[in-house]
Amino acid sequence: MLTVALVGRPNVGKSTLFNRLVGRRIAIVDDTPGVTRDRRMGEARLGNLRFNVVDTAGLEEIEDPSDLNARMQAQTRTAIDDADLVLFMIDGRAGITPSDEHFADLLRRVETPVVVVVNKCEGRAGDMGLAEAWGLGLGEPMPLSAAHGDHTSDLYDVLSAHGAAHAEALEDAAAAEAEAAAARRRAAARAGAEGAEAEELAEHGPREVGLDDFDDDGSDVDIDEDADEETLAAAEERAMAEIGRQKALQIAIVGRPNAGKSTLMNHLLGEDRVLTGPEAGITRDAIAVDWLHAGRRIRLIDTAGMRRKARIDDRIEKMSVDETLRAIRFAHVVVLMIDAERGLEKQDMTIARLIVDEGRALVLAVNKWDTVTDADAFMTELRRRMSHVMPQVKGVPVVTISALAGHNTDRLIDACFDIYRIWNRRVSTGRLNRWLERMTENYPPPMANGRRLRLRYITQIKTRPPGFAIFVSQPKELPDSYVRYVVNGLRDSFDLPGVPVRVVLRTSE
Ligand code: GDP
Ligand code: GDP
Repeated sequence: MLTVALVGRPNVGKSTLFNRLVGRRIAIVDDTPGVTRDRRMGEARLGNLRFNVVDTAGLEEIEDPSDLNARMQAQTRTAIDDADLVLFMIDGRAGITPSDEHFADLLRRVETPVVVVVNKCEGRAGDMGLAEAWGLGLGEPMPLSAAHGDHTSDLYDVLSAHGAAHAEALEDAAAAEAEAAAARRRAAARAGAEGAEAEELAEHGPREVGLDDFDDDGSDVDIDEDADEETLAAAEERAMAEIGRQKALQIAIVGRPNAGKSTLMNHLLGEDRVLTGPEAGITRDAIAVDWLHAGRRIRLIDTAGMRRKARIDDRIEKMSVDETLRAIRFAHVVVLMIDAERGLEKQDMTIARLIVDEGRALVLAVNKWDTVTDADAFMTELRRRMSHVMPQVKGVPVVTISALAGHNTDRLIDACFDIYRIWNRRVSTGRLNRWLERMTENYPPPMANGRRLRLRYITQIKTRPPGFAIFVSQPKELPDSYVRYVVNGLRDSFDLPGVPVRVVLRTSE
């Protein structure tokens, strides 16, 4: 499991964050006498992520400041070396202090990846500190309010990108909840409640699980399971408005070497680049560039930057799966760029599969369109190969571009926003169950062990990408072909093209 160390001078909020992440599941691992406070370690949860967290608070709290060095070298250094990721916390209200710079000096030299977390950023209180934090030379700082929970989704993205585990147990919890709802529905029906009332009761149970920490930032939840379609549509609109205005849409451009990724990045950023950090030199460390495009915020994951970094390590320049995967994990939407001169190749399919496996929304960009002579033949062949190799993401948007000429690049960005909306889509439980009834009437599931299989209840358990739980009388007996029928039906009926749609089957008895 990923281990995260919380590092920073006293009073920046390490313990507060630790407590928020770990809650009561604390295990004290180091109570060596002489250490001012115990080094605390615990299993943390954030949404559906799970990881270990080490709180170094107290390790550097000592009487004699001249001792700081020694103490930091020994204790904090161990925590840093043992960790997979360091969250270097500073106080956004206080700004950068000499003590912060001292830590930064140390952290610039360690091998563990470091993310600067500017705490106490509730409201706009930390804006100054956030701007100053670029000056630490440790890449893009991330705002947070450990005390109030603001920007938790940014933290989620960072941790998720660094490989914190998604907890399957939470999916089970969702299923259990949905099952409880199904039971309530049956009980209500038995008690003679009329249809509408039964439905109302049933819909009160299941909720989005995992991401419920995020209602502060508006993008993930604050959507009621029993909301009607209008409310859901309004929530979707709000999320979209939010993503354009305040929160950046995170896009990664991936593809084989020579597909034209750098050319596209240069074209896009050359036009209207707006960096959030003041010093261009510092952004070299960042793996992403923030960019304002037609009034919408976009964070472009800089795979070219990752490659530059790799080259310093003397690694030969080639498509690295690790690097690509890292970019994919950072992104909401992934643009897979293919070279029209070469068509869809095996390596492209490998990347596409990575994107789908990671649950990201996919847009296919066919670059060097200026070299294509028979457009129709090209597209026919492309669609044929895609439906063959990637049936699980039927309807992937395909945008033909010329990165060199800057042709159609706006359409590519629009397609990213469109697919992001779909990736976030939520369908009400009421509507899903009315739909399921029609689906099973039109094409009844087969018999198994002498009894007809029954699909009793469906509920959406997650978004980003959409995931559904279906309660089935004998889940193991349900043929794959029937599952495909349901998934394709979901995609068509609820307009979910181009994103992975996941379905888990649960026992309803
Ligand atoms: P540590 O020494 O780094 O572990 O810091 P603590 O977690 O003990 O926090 C130091 C002080 O900052 C406490 O008074 C916290 O209540 C406060 N604090 C922590 N996080 C925040 C925050 O997000 N916003 C504000 N305004 N105060 C915070
Ligand atoms: P990367 O390795 O994916 O970053 O690819 P580059 O951006 O370095 O591009 C590889 C080559 O393809 C360069 O020689 C580019 O000039 C060329 N190229 C990029 N985009 C286009 C395009 O739209 N049309 C044509 N004809 N060539 C392009």
